[in-house]
Amino acid sequence: MKLLVTGGAGFIGANFVHYWVKKYPKDKITVVDALTYTGNLENLALVKKEVEFVEADINDRPKISQALKRVDAVIHFAAESHVDRAIFDPSTYWQTNVHGTLTLLEEAQKAGVPRFHHISTDEVYGELPLDSDAKFTEKTPYSPRPDNLYALSKAEADKIVLDFYQKTKMYITISNCSNNYGPYQFPEKYIPIIVTNLIDKIKVPLHGDGRNVRDWIHTRDHSSAIDLILNKGKSGETYLVGSNNDRSNSYIAKKVVNLFGANETVIRHVSDRHSNDRRYAINATKIMEELGWKPEITRDKFNEGLKETIAWYKENQGWWRPLLKRKAMIMDSSKSISAYISLDRESGKTKFVFGKIEKQVEKKETVFDADKHFVEQNLVRYEIVMKNLNSKKWYKASSDEVKNEIKTLGINPSTFGYVEDLAGREDHINGDLILKLEKIEHADSKYGIYGIGSWFEVENKKKEKRMEGYYSWGWGPKSGAKLLVLVKRNGEITHLATQREQKFPTGSVEYTLAGGFPKLNESVLDFIIRSIQKDLNLSVTKNDVGLDQIISLGRLNPDSGMTNNKPNLYAVIVNLSDELYKDVKKGDKFEEDEGIVLWPIDKLADLINKCDDAYFLSALTRLNLTKNIL
Ligand code: NAD
Repeated sequence: MKLLVTGGAGFIGANFVHYWVKKYPKDKITVVDALTYTGNLENLALVKKEVEFVEADINDRPKISQALKRVDAVIHFAAESHVDRAIFDPSTYWQTNVHGTLTLLEEAQKAGVPRFHHISTDEVYGELPLDSDAKFTEKTPYSPRPDNLYALSKAEADKIVLDFYQKTKMYITISNCSNNYGPYQFPEKYIPIIVTNLIDKIKVPLHGDGRNVRDWIHTRDHSSAIDLILNKGKSGETYLVGSNNDRSNSYIAKKVVNLFGANETVIRHVSDRHSNDRRYAINATKIMEELGWKPEITRDKFNEGLKETIAWYKENQGWWRPLLKRKAMIMDSSKSISAYISLDRESGKTKFVFGKIEKQVEKKETVFDADKHFVEQNLVRYEIVMKNLNSKKWYKASSDEVKNEIKTLGINPSTFGYVEDLAGREDHINGDLILKLEKIEHADSKYGIYGIGSWFEVENKKKEKRMEGYYSWGWGPKSGAKLLVLVKRNGEITHLATQREQKFPTGSVEYTLAGGFPKLNESVLDFIIRSIQKDLNLSVTKNDVGLDQIISLGRLNPDSGMTNNKPNLYAVIVNLSDELYKDVKKGDKFEEDEGIVLWPIDKLADLINKCDDAYFLSALTRLNLTKNIL
């Protein structure tokens, strides 16, 4: 048999190739991989004699069609795979995960490939409640979290694969697997972060409250599941793969630290990651009963799997150390490279770095049509949001008039964020059930932004009904990022740039933070530059080396009672030129004025006491708590 493995130089793909070469030594394997920042030929070093390697992007039709000649089965792993990075670079995720999958399917069909297996993730199902026994099954409806762009792109890819099967009846299977661990995992993922930090005596980050749950499977078990699906799986079917090994992140951190022989005091709580779904858990009954799959490294053998993985990272420092320095380049909307992303080991998060990029990277030739992509991305998000709403009892109970209004607001790019928030909000207010959305009101548009009042009918446990009103507002279509702009002078962070302005809806003058709501398809980079220019009136451009670093501080949860928006929060460090610096007010004595004020960083606590704006207050508090990551 001849296999074509896409993404075979990545973590799971390479482990699968190792598995297959060992089990089926007579088979031929071609690996197709674009060698992005996670792709690594060294992952295949031990099998290089047995494997043919083709460096190609899965969107590169000529190379793909050539590689597909006389292939018996395609196993499609290639993907952009990291949730944190997707926020910074959504276009690449869409291009590879969605367009790339379609290209591959079309070329495989043209080449008459008899068998196609698509690798997907459990993240397409969204998140499960934290304190429940619920698990995903093949019947769970797709509901990726709207701000998890990785999950969205994988969900869209799965849809394309299933549609393709319906249209062509090609022999296609899909597997959705839980979190993998094992050797060759890029050191930006959680278990390698813990182990490599322990080796280097760096504190082990634990995100948020540490209660988020992932269902861990060893890559060898994932490979044996794919093996069975390839041999016995039914065309058009989806199989969920997991080892019944759901564990909280704090369990994982403690367990790895203990097995490593370190003290738990090395664990340090840090702010949450973006789009950090609460819980994933898989019910793998179908693949077990229909295909007879059994994981080898079961829940009770998790210690063994972890010990083996820890030992591998200890023994293979020459493999992972160079990877820590790898940077993924980011292009902004004008397609010039203006930043790179890399791992911040202490916070265990992806960091965005601006400034001098030593070497301009050759631009990839692309067949990608940005405008078309943006329209598609909008529609996909809109569809997912409407699907989420339709699954809510209170939405179903609302009048047709209200529903029609929501649909109209949803297709309007400037109010899409409001509808997205509605779909993402909880079904309760202060513990009482929402019965329906009774009416929607619109604020006076003289502020140039939308302001929407939502009136919910709510019922308490004694069956007493009341109305609860919420306000939402925004400048753009997506209730997204907010910004703390830190000013650096002579190598030190000296000020926080803030503004005093009239606030909607009270009209009072207050200190606020920069950055409203990014446009739906705006990259974080474009959004930040726009916000600094527009809100802080500082002329920082994308070519300006004034921008030093962006730090993602997770989601803001202002307990304001005025809005249900929970935007992402970034801190950005700006190197202000002497010219700009001399023109702005500095200090803490501008209580009467509107405009930009640089607040001394050593007096942050005083500013917290002067703040009335709920977002700013929660952002400042977050900054104060996480100052050590700056
Ligand atoms: P990875 O990032 O380690 O590997 C991905 C590989 O794909 C890399 O070698 C990269 O160079 C290659 N690639 C990326 N874009 C490409 C392109 N345009 N053309 C050709 N090659 C390209 O990821 P991974 O963790 O090994 O994930 C592999 C697959 O498994 C993905 O489809 C992912 O969605 C899925 N998955 C991963 C997990 C997990 O826990 N890691 C869980 C469930 C499913």
